[in-house]
Amino acid sequence: MSTERNYDEQLTVKFTYPMPYRWSVGEHGSVFFNEIKKNRRFVGVRCPSCGMVYVPPRRVCGPCFRELDEIVPLTDEGTIVAFSTVNYPFLDPATGVQRPIPYTYGYIRLDGADNIFSHIINETDVSKIQVGMKVKAVFREPEQMQGNIQDIKHFDIIG
Ligand SMILES: [Zn+2]
Repeated sequence: MSTERNYDEQLTVKFTYPMPYRWSVGEHGSVFFNEIKKNRRFVGVRCPSCGMVYVPPRRVCGPCFRELDEIVPLTDEGTIVAFSTVNYPFLDPATGVQRPIPYTYGYIRLDGADNIFSHIINETDVSKIQVGMKVKAVFREPEQMQGNIQDIKHFDIIG
């Protein structure tokens, strides 16, 4: 009996997997997305113990394990902490649609926050992007707001 395998072609199984779903973003998540949708501004939450400000707001401070309830306003500007310009196409998990390439994904520290917020930076020429640059959020038009992360179209580099 031979153990040799001879496959002349790779086979694939093609199928469509429709999977509509939704989930609760929670109390703090609702405050966060409603502030963006209705007032076009960011909010975070401050820890009463260590003073860390998190955006998006979360229920518990990781280092302190304190419950967080103090919602604080933030600006729509921040600083690039890291970035990556993506040239490989894949489905955007937020939309289920392939994002046109290239695009730049950035880690941004919003002014007044202590953690890092990630979103698209509206620049794909890596020679024009540097860590430490200032960015500003660009929101959808008011009539297009839906109360989700896509309400922020991207961040523009402002300096
Ligand atoms: Zn804390």
